[in-house]
Amino acid sequence: MISRCRFVRTDGTRCKITNALSEDGRCLHHDPARADRVQAIRSAGGKARARQQRRVVDSDLTPGPLETIADCARWAAWGAVSVSTGVLDWKTAQQVSNAINQVRQSVKGQHEEELEGLRAAVADLRARLESRDAA
Ligand SMILES: [Zn+2]
Repeated sequence: MISRCRFVRTDGTRCKITNALSEDGRCLHHDPARADRVQAIRSAGGKARARQQRRVVDSDLTPGPLETIADCARWAAWGAVSVSTGVLDWKTAQQVSNAINQVRQSVKGQHEEELEGLRAAVADLRARLESRDAA
């Protein structure tokens, strides 16, 4: 015969748990001597769930527009503080980080185009100055 937890429920049926019984035949959940352990397990489970929960902030608590390289630096610093202090969950922080990198790449691309245009303009001006000096 398999031993079962000796706890009897209010409806008169016995607890069906057969594993991890105490010496006097009580399962983990019905053993007052192990109540602290059950509480610790529940608490750890609760903390693990809390860590997994999404944590976001209202838009007025973010560092503002995300359009320039300076904005990217401000957002990255804010994101680091927010995730390390638990204001943001790591998944949300990861998405914020991805958005920052996309904006940074986009702005960098615009800057490279502008720089090419400026280099061409400078080269044109130099050529004009040199041809004027030669004349
Ligand atoms: Zn039991």
